[in-house]
Amino acid sequence: MGKDRVSYFYHPTTPLHYYGPSHPMKPHRLKLAHHLILAYKLYTKMECYRCHPASAAEMAQFHSDEYVQFLSKITPDNLRTYSGVLQKFNAGDTTDCPVFDGLYDFVQLYTGASLDGAIQLNQQQADICINWSGGLHHAKKSEASGFCYINDIVLAILELLKVHARVLYVDIDVHHGDGVEEAFYTTDRVMTLSLHKYGDFFPGTGHIQDVGAKDGVGYSVNAPLQAGITDDTYLNDLFIPVFDKIMEVFQPGAIVLQCGADSLTGDRLGCFNLTTRGHASAVKHVKGYGVPTLVLGGGGYTIRNVARCWAYETSVLLEEPIENNIPFNDYYEYYAPDFELHLKPDPSMANANDNLTSIRTELLQQLQDLQGAPSVQMQQVPPAFRTTAADDNDDMDEDEGAKGLSRKRMKKPHSAELYDEVD
Ligand SMILES: [Zn+2]
Repeated sequence: MGKDRVSYFYHPTTPLHYYGPSHPMKPHRLKLAHHLILAYKLYTKMECYRCHPASAAEMAQFHSDEYVQFLSKITPDNLRTYSGVLQKFNAGDTTDCPVFDGLYDFVQLYTGASLDGAIQLNQQQADICINWSGGLHHAKKSEASGFCYINDIVLAILELLKVHARVLYVDIDVHHGDGVEEAFYTTDRVMTLSLHKYGDFFPGTGHIQDVGAKDGVGYSVNAPLQAGITDDTYLNDLFIPVFDKIMEVFQPGAIVLQCGADSLTGDRLGCFNLTTRGHASAVKHVKGYGVPTLVLGGGGYTIRNVARCWAYETSVLLEEPIENNIPFNDYYEYYAPDFELHLKPDPSMANANDNLTSIRTELLQQLQDLQGAPSVQMQQVPPAFRTTAADDNDDMDEDEGAKGLSRKRMKKPHSAELYDEVD
């Protein structure tokens, strides 16, 4: 069997956005990751695209019009005009979702890249699509949350549901994937699996007994974990057995994998003890099933490690081994003092997870109870939209509006263009 066809979506201006000096979310990490991917020459092994900026109509497929309009108009300069609605939309200086310069451009770009990836998967132009700028899993229908404004994941899953009867969402960020779970809590067409720190930790949701509602009962899968979890226990006690059972009973047509890197050891906000190899083993395991997969970023606040993680996971998805010595690149000094790709676990960190067997047993039982449920076997596949093939010569801004059916927007840059920097 040949290697998967991998598409990579990036936009050079996405990393230039700035949440503010004391804010832990640094879009600059995307530039670090991109330059590592370039330095390892991984871009030669995949199709590289500059994403289209998502339109307001595309975002309103999930978000309320009023909220999208608010995001499109608000700036640091007119903040006072909007003081009445800032609280309602959970944005501004009193929240963890600041209004910064170019906010709307930023959300358009990270969202557009996820939509482009979902569309390529739907059109079978690629087996795996990567958008490290996406994965903002906390955003709600009419509310920003946890550094997330637009939920690109929900929008990408909605796109995949046009073609696939069932879509699996997998979230290995240290935080619960609450926004995605909430959006699909009452449907059996999307299963969500989230492994996260639980208890006195943002966002506070993701209890093991939160299994979904109405038609979605059993289709929300939550593994609440404690600090210090290691590669071996994360993968072998939980991730692999639970994921395998999901594949058996749910049989998704497509997967969306959120690879939040704040579950790595040494993260500024996280508290797990996963290494780059352990984190990527989860990615590799998902890939092993050969189901069309959209791979997204997410959290990650020790930015040199975020870049290490996502560059390595790009190589894993490409099945192109890369060496542990970081090749010289524009941000080489970030990787001091060892200049190595891989992280080692923190030996001083205790693994506070002593109940993984009971969590695994409970989740496997939840999934077993779904087996034979008629809704799993009898889903009707909705007709695929007739779309126009992406054309290299077209510009990125043809949009026929609400349903986002015009897909003549993806522009394949020359590889040199990938080096374009705006600053
Ligand atoms: Zn996170």
